[in-house]
Amino acid sequence: MANKGRHNYDRYNRGSYSGSRYIYSGNAVTRKKKRGKTILIVSVVLVFLLSAAFAAFYMLNGMSLFFKGESEIGSSETTINTFIDSSEIKHISFNGEKYESRSESGESYMISYPLTNIKTIDSQIAEKVKYFEKCAVSSDARFTSYDYTTEIADNTYLSVIFRSAEYNDNKEKFGEDVFTMAFNLKKGSSLKNEDVFKKDFYSFASEYVRKYFKNNLDTKANVDNETFVSATTADELHFDQFSFNDKQCTLYFNEKKLFASGTKIYDVSISLPKIADYLKISLSGAESEKSDTSGDPYISPTIRDNLNPDKPMIALTFDDGPHYSNTERILNTLENYGSRATFFVIGQNAAAYPEILKEISDAGCQIGNHSNDHVNLTEQSDKKIKEQASLVDEAVKKATGSETTAFRPPYGSYNEKVQKILNKTPLIFWDVDTEDWELRDKKKVIDSVMKQAGDGEIILLHDIYDSTAEAAEEFIPKLIQKGYQLVTVEELLYYKNIEVNGGETYPW
Ligand SMILES: [Zn+2]
Repeated sequence: MANKGRHNYDRYNRGSYSGSRYIYSGNAVTRKKKRGKTILIVSVVLVFLLSAAFAAFYMLNGMSLFFKGESEIGSSETTINTFIDSSEIKHISFNGEKYESRSESGESYMISYPLTNIKTIDSQIAEKVKYFEKCAVSSDARFTSYDYTTEIADNTYLSVIFRSAEYNDNKEKFGEDVFTMAFNLKKGSSLKNEDVFKKDFYSFASEYVRKYFKNNLDTKANVDNETFVSATTADELHFDQFSFNDKQCTLYFNEKKLFASGTKIYDVSISLPKIADYLKISLSGAESEKSDTSGDPYISPTIRDNLNPDKPMIALTFDDGPHYSNTERILNTLENYGSRATFFVIGQNAAAYPEILKEISDAGCQIGNHSNDHVNLTEQSDKKIKEQASLVDEAVKKATGSETTAFRPPYGSYNEKVQKILNKTPLIFWDVDTEDWELRDKKKVIDSVMKQAGDGEIILLHDIYDSTAEAAEEFIPKLIQKGYQLVTVEELLYYKNIEVNGGETYPW
């Protein structure tokens, strides 16, 4: 999974900033072993970049030409081949360069960027860096940082996602932006929108993105605004910041452009099979699951992108419902505290209370499958196991429009056969069993939760008990007060960078 949302570009407080002189911080020239010729070429490029950096530093304005050595471009076939032959390509980290500078008037900036050792690509990245530098110098910001992440698809396509952050004199971040570049590593060429997407992609993207923001609690009130509507029409220009890896394509949006205010960047990910028909390049991630129209349930619009990956998170899970009154009560408490949870429902109850399922889904909470009849699946035939899952999915789909996105086997009982059959979604267990089903006492349930709560945990509860619903009204604010973000299982796995696969078990 890509490391979206976990970028680490807030470098304002790094020691290196507090000094008075800013020079090229040439500490990053470690790279993988390459053949002599490569090293030579790379050295030339490096020296070139180095001179460029100094040139930039001393001249600041009016030096639009410091990457003019383009006559060499195109003569680097060997470099490309060397690079591509490397079996390490998938894991290559693109040891990057970083450089910092400060202008006479005091503005400073730090730009990090990757090096691919492919001249044609590195020179385009260098152009971008040059552009960033100009932006940083002319900006109102006291300090601007540019950092990047990379993604790779099919060992061939490289996406570079640059994120900028601007800080004022009080060290407060006041602006963010995102700039993406995509390349074909084998050809050494760049990929623009028209190289990647067919024309009809944009109407799909428009619809998808509008739905995404409509489902996002923080933005759903603003999706009828004129700015938003016109910024999300089916126009190529609105979707020109993108990246892709083996699983998904991500579109990036600047909050300010969408809603006329704000500083955030939204990353909207779409699983590749969903856009297979709109791609001009062939990606195996899109092909392999093309027939699976349910798409990838793990990268879904229900994942909030305003959670803080550096702050603790807990996924509360409520099993055996929905219950005619307790589920709503818990939902209300969650909503009051801007929180979400996951509900593992039983088919019988799901069929009886479709309106409550809808409420769960409308609240942005995740609905998981807990089998139709709460049976021990390891004792069932293949056919029965399938049926136990599909009956719940049918009920949930009928009520909410979507199927369940996780499965929790009753009694936590499973075996390889169960895993093989239930391979559409991950199998979710728990870190903490509150034993609320046995305690049946508000105070004891609160104590049980608070005593065992910890970052990254999945906590097992049951929304069919009054005592649990009552307890939730107290332990939810208590957890929030302790700094926990209460998230769905899906969000927890996503933000904790855990790769999720259908049929696999979590957290065990
Ligand atoms: Zn249960």
